[in-house]
Amino acid sequence: MVNRIAVIGAGTMGNGIAHVFAQFGFRVNLIDISKEKLETSVITITKNIDRQINKGLLTQEDKKVALNNISTFTDLVIGVKDAELVIEAATENVDLKLNIFRELDLATPKGCILATNTSSISITKIAAVTKRSSYVIGMHFMNPVPVMKLVEVINGYATSPGVTKTIIDISKKLQKIPCEVNDYPGFIANRILMPMINEAIYSLYEGVAGVEEIDTIMKLGMSHPMGPLQLADFIGLDVCHSIMKVLQDGLGNSKYSPCPLLSNMVMAGHLGVKTGEGFYEYTPGKKELVVSGRFRP
Ligand code: NAD
Repeated sequence: MVNRIAVIGAGTMGNGIAHVFAQFGFRVNLIDISKEKLETSVITITKNIDRQINKGLLTQEDKKVALNNISTFTDLVIGVKDAELVIEAATENVDLKLNIFRELDLATPKGCILATNTSSISITKIAAVTKRSSYVIGMHFMNPVPVMKLVEVINGYATSPGVTKTIIDISKKLQKIPCEVNDYPGFIANRILMPMINEAIYSLYEGVAGVEEIDTIMKLGMSHPMGPLQLADFIGLDVCHSIMKVLQDGLGNSKYSPCPLLSNMVMAGHLGVKTGEGFYEYTPGKKELVVSGRFRP
């Protein structure tokens, strides 16, 4: 029975992952190199639990229990020393993740499962830097974690079936729906989603239609809750670009090359919601969606 969890990285995904584990009774050590990130993360978790209380999903008592279940650490070695499962949700950078997994292999108890929330980096490559590749697996949560039901469970080349079963059972305990896939570039979620977003950007780049038209067609025509260009802004255009590169390099097919417009926007630092401008403009406090001045007719 796994109960002691460590989450590495207290950013967008890490705080959501810590939140759901704590809410369902797991003890969570949340670890980040940045003390400020840890502090902001606990504030965000508290706000998100308050939102669940307002919706009648949780009680004040649940809030107390969940927040009590979370401890924060800046020292990875101390934070993971008793862990039975680690979920790594640090910045999407191969070398950074390989270093973290080398460290985790030395610092965690024997038998501790090492999972990564990576969007696109090979699980097999990450596992290969450890001496426990059968205990390394992908546990890919969706954003925002407390709301989204899916967990994409990714088997590396050497992941043992017992470890996969444990992760599937834990996902169900979090009231998520796990889906098991194998470790090939982009797994399933991003292998299908990112080329669609890239194609939407190509359609804009080639002047087939404008931002609003592309998003409206996909929303109303395909029942997507958000158009692909708005979704790209939400995910971050840098993240979309790097996932397209992983697909291009890993599958060796030019159909995965990032659209030149996407590359330009990333080079210009127009990354979407997080920088205030992408295909749309984002002003704090304003809910209305406004197409970026660059793309207005
Ligand atoms: P983020 O930038 O919001 O957070 C990353 C955090 O990692 C930061 O707080 C940073 O300080 C911390 N960090 C960096 N190096 C560290 C280290 N050595 N030790 C501990 N902490 C460290 O990123 P995010 O959006 O939360 O993404 C995290 C992971 O989740 C990535 O692998 C990403 O691909 C994946 N992911 C993201 C989304 C999304 O929509 N944002 C969705 C699914 C999966």
